[in-house]
Amino acid sequence: MTATNRDTDKGTRSASLPDGLEALRTAILTRHSFLITSHARPDGDSIGSQLAMAFALDALGKQVRIVNADPAPEHYQDFPGMDRIEIAPRVERPGIDAVIVMECSDLSRTGVSGLESQFILNIDHHAGNHMYGAVNWHDETAAACGEMVFELIEALGVELTPEIATHIYLAILTDTGSFHHSNITPRTFEICRRCVEAGVSPAVMARRVFDSNSFGKLKLIGALLDDMELADEGRLAVLRMDDQMLAATGSTHNDTEGLINLPLTAREIQAVVFFKVTETGDVRVSMRSKYDVDVRCVASEFGGGGHKNAAGFTVAGPLLAVRDAIVSRIVGAIAEGLQSRP
Ligand code: AMP
Ligand code: MN
Repeated sequence: MTATNRDTDKGTRSASLPDGLEALRTAILTRHSFLITSHARPDGDSIGSQLAMAFALDALGKQVRIVNADPAPEHYQDFPGMDRIEIAPRVERPGIDAVIVMECSDLSRTGVSGLESQFILNIDHHAGNHMYGAVNWHDETAAACGEMVFELIEALGVELTPEIATHIYLAILTDTGSFHHSNITPRTFEICRRCVEAGVSPAVMARRVFDSNSFGKLKLIGALLDDMELADEGRLAVLRMDDQMLAATGSTHNDTEGLINLPLTAREIQAVVFFKVTETGDVRVSMRSKYDVDVRCVASEFGGGGHKNAAGFTVAGPLLAVRDAIVSRIVGAIAEGLQSRP
């Protein structure tokens, strides 16, 4: 259904909403105070989805808190409402009517404890959501959680203000990999069109999100690519990073966002795996791929998740002990994906 149809259909709009969205709308309208959260190490979609939702709840006269386990990357700090996000690993006696969890296939992905016995509203677009909420709205066809938040805000009858539009656009711009990924639909562009109409400048957004690197990040890019290895006759790029590399380049963990996409700009490369060795010795594994190379299947074998072209998981180190098994599984996924390529 197009937005125009919806606009002319205000009186009966709720009758045509998907089940999860209808239940969510009712749950929100009948409650007063909310805590919003999303996954640890937030990205543009989690930040944009949470803040768009927070501004919409403000407009409805609701009380809102946002609690995240980790701070957002530096270049998101100037976006509207960022100062509202509390950083805490635990919420004691939240005293709220409902928790809205965005972008999490299970509650533990938030990294925020103390929410387990709350009335949970689960909004997610990742495959394999565990439907852990009292209300669950799960739409794998959404290119970003921000798309779902747009629909929810519309269903709630809240006006698309410049602040809300900025956050919806941020969510979509980042989660589609700046309009690279296969999950983009006409609805994605329709929502972006509405955001631009509401005052968002795509040029300004692209500069703020993608052209705001620190010098440390530029140096890190050089070090990562210098250290890059190729496998599977150049079809797979393997990146590796640890705290020594961050210190040597004057960069931080937050500076690693987006860097995994760099090798994909080489035509031959079909997939990238990025091993980040953490302080504790655990290895965070991020994967990206092109077309039908399904890295989510690899992630789910190792207890993680994500999407076909962007997925991840964490394993216990050391890296040397796990590297080869992961690489060979991705090489298998590349072979399967290339078979079905037209
Ligand atoms: P990342 O490489 O961390 O940007 O993650 C890529 C995608 O995989 C995102 O959609 C994440 O939500 C998802 N993902 C990453 N790690 C995990 C995990 N441990 N469990 C479930 N999903 C994950
Ligand atoms: Mn997302």
